[in-house]
Amino acid sequence: MNITDLRSDTVTKPTPGMLQAMFAAQVGDDVYEEDPTINALEQKAAAMFGMEAGLFCPSGTMTNQIAIKAHTEPMTEVICDVTAHIYQYEGGGIMFNSGASVALVHGERGKMTPAQVEAHIRPDNIHYPPTRLVALENTCNKGGGAFYTLEEIAAISEVCKRQGIALHLDGARVFNALVASGEDAVAYGNYFDSISICLSKGLGAPVGSLLLGKKEFVKKSRRIRKVLGGGIRQGGYLAAAGIYALENNIERLAEDHRKAKEIESMLIQADYVEYVLPVQTNIVIFKLNDRYKDVDFVAALAENSIRASSFGPQMVRFVTHLDVSDDMLQHVLQVLHKLNKTHVAI
Ligand SMILES: *Cc1c(COP(=O)(O)O)cnc(C)c1O
Repeated sequence: MNITDLRSDTVTKPTPGMLQAMFAAQVGDDVYEEDPTINALEQKAAAMFGMEAGLFCPSGTMTNQIAIKAHTEPMTEVICDVTAHIYQYEGGGIMFNSGASVALVHGERGKMTPAQVEAHIRPDNIHYPPTRLVALENTCNKGGGAFYTLEEIAAISEVCKRQGIALHLDGARVFNALVASGEDAVAYGNYFDSISICLSKGLGAPVGSLLLGKKEFVKKSRRIRKVLGGGIRQGGYLAAAGIYALENNIERLAEDHRKAKEIESMLIQADYVEYVLPVQTNIVIFKLNDRYKDVDFVAALAENSIRASSFGPQMVRFVTHLDVSDDMLQHVLQVLHKLNKTHVAI
């Protein structure tokens, strides 16, 4: 049986249409800024978010880390939620790459309020690292795919502007937020000083992220990318996959959200689930009661050709994506039902 891989939306493979676009790409040397396809992708993504310029990078970790380095100096501080990818899942990169410290906010499902952000900004006092950057994540991975609305972003942006602090977005799954909210990305450019977007999550490209911002910021970021060894010479083959993804794979994220909702409905009824974080996009995080240990539950799924991530004590994560077909969804629902202590065939 085919494996249904719900560990992450990073596992997708290029579709035939995407591969065709990649084969047909015009390329050049991007370190000389001469790759027409990378240049086109950078301009296209920047325009979508109301930004002046963009920078193509191999990963979202790199775009985030470049942004943090560009906005800070050693001995300054970044504010983010305690669950943030930049803090939890980038290998200590803030400290290593930027020599900056981090002020952690205990938000709600990965989301900080303007008051929480403001309360963590340091006063001008020799004892404290000066606050230089606030970083939001949209959608919030560890928050189970919860998202900020434009109104919430605007309120945090207002605090940052008033205090003279830069605002960065880790938008690895920002398209999921935009599709779910129905909002237009172009307004983001008014609120953020930099935006990182991933092409290799729900959008289905094999590789690639973009860092978006003002021209001067992107120029500085290009230098940092060079230092990190992130310039890809004839990377246009990869950028072509990114352009294809932006043109074909955004609206369909609603499909992934629908599938995540169906999984949520099944889990809410299951006798082995304590709670499910209410599903808003393509991530389903739930807590098991004592009927299963998380590793045993994940193993039981594996025996039924389903892969999932163990996500902390008794926590499990499913992520839906474009390689999860309707048939696979039906199979997942049946297995989740079967794992109940008492079940009737559906
Ligand atoms: C996946 C992800 C990233 C970047 O990951 P890469 O694997 O380095 O591309 C950044 N932020 C969040 C929230 C993510 O989920």
